[in-house]
Amino acid sequence: MKRIVVLGSNFAGYTAAIQLRKQLGKKENEIIVVAPSHEFLYVPSLIWVPFGRRKVEDIKFDILPIFRKKNIQFIQDKAVQVDPEHNTVHLEAEEPICYDYLVVATGVQMNFDVVDGLKPEDNKIENIVIPRLAQKTQHAFEALIKDPGPVVIGATQGASCMGAAYEYLFNMDNELRRRKVRGQVKLYWITPEPYLGNFGIDGMPGGEAMLKMFMKLYNIEWITDASIKKIEDNTITLKDGTELPYKMAMLMPPFEGAQVMKNSPALVDDKGFVETDGTYQHHTFKNVFAAGLAVQVRPNFEIKNTPFGVPKTGYPSDVTGKIVAKNIARLIKGNQPLIDKEWGKIPALCVMDAGRKEVYLVANHLFKPRQFAIMLPNILNDFGKVLLEKYFIWKNKRGYAQLP
Ligand SMILES: Cc1cc2nc3c(=O)[nH]c(=O)nc-3n(C[C@H](O)[C@H](O)[C@H](O)COP(=O)(O)OP(=O)(O)OC[C@H]3O[C@@H](n4cnc5c(N)ncnc54)[C@H](O)[C@@H]3O)c2cc1C
Repeated sequence: MKRIVVLGSNFAGYTAAIQLRKQLGKKENEIIVVAPSHEFLYVPSLIWVPFGRRKVEDIKFDILPIFRKKNIQFIQDKAVQVDPEHNTVHLEAEEPICYDYLVVATGVQMNFDVVDGLKPEDNKIENIVIPRLAQKTQHAFEALIKDPGPVVIGATQGASCMGAAYEYLFNMDNELRRRKVRGQVKLYWITPEPYLGNFGIDGMPGGEAMLKMFMKLYNIEWITDASIKKIEDNTITLKDGTELPYKMAMLMPPFEGAQVMKNSPALVDDKGFVETDGTYQHHTFKNVFAAGLAVQVRPNFEIKNTPFGVPKTGYPSDVTGKIVAKNIARLIKGNQPLIDKEWGKIPALCVMDAGRKEVYLVANHLFKPRQFAIMLPNILNDFGKVLLEKYFIWKNKRGYAQLP
């Protein structure tokens, strides 16, 4: 009887726990999930919360019924440190817990220190990464509708989640038009990417041209290779001296590993990401695995000027959760070799919302070289994005995490 402890219960952790149970059989071995909340959150739909198109409650579900059904224990607590020498996780409230195998799926935290004035408590810059801040952004958006003015949207130097910021930008444009104030709002996009549509994956065929077309079509001014020097009450100043006035701004900050992993230096790099190979097994501590955002992923191309990172989206988070579960099951059953699929070789499957329009991004590999890569726009609606949300929540709510 082995004990597998999974830290985190969203895309990667939830998938890993359910897949582990499927691989190991219902009664054998103990699976314990530790997370601060027993609710699954469909993070990609947070882009719609500021515009009232989704409420946070619409994109959440309770994971406990499925965990009970599948004989997965759940501890509602926060891990504070992993001691891999003693196979122990220290928790905030409960007693420390020991493991035979550990899955780290604790996602990320935001690094607001990259520029002064970025922190939520500074009350200058909005944020859509976590529910509470996305709800606050909704209030700022409603205030903007009443008293329109310039809006700056983008990502800071070091950011990696530019895709979500693009989606928010195009939704902002669309909602301002719908609310009949677009003419009174000058819209700016700033990004650390060297060109539009790089997305942190060295671009997609036709991506730059498509993004430029959207920017011109929607009358959005853009600045690439942008590095922010300072954020003041009504002005964002770039390192090259450009000053952008704003009444409302949303900037995607850089991500780093969750605090629990930053507190566990033997397992992580300087940013708190778990160092693994393509089996998602830790280099040194072979009973520790990581999945999803918690994994260290380095770009395989040169970043020449403003730094930015690689996006870690939902599909690879789900895939790595499954790989980790299968690999742990193989180790327990004595089957070798382990599945080895490095992050960059996982297929790219993503829908980018473009404000009641959308673009499908499909490639056989996330990173170049790719044998197949295409960006397909759907200018009629964002049906694909909505369908993906419904499908994902449906399959996970029923515990069909093994489905693609
Ligand atoms: C605004 C936004 C829009 C996005 N849009 C898309 C999109 O359109 N398509 C796409 O593919 N991807 C998108 N993504 C990325 C996608 O959301 C992530 O890839 C996915 O959430 C990663 O899953 P994860 O399980 O690794 O991390 P998370 O979903 O962040 O889950 C982390 C888990 O760890 C738990 N945890 C944290 N700290 C601790 C601790 N100390 N102890 C125990 N548990 C802990 C959390 O409670 C949570 O359960 C978007 C991201 C954002 C922010």
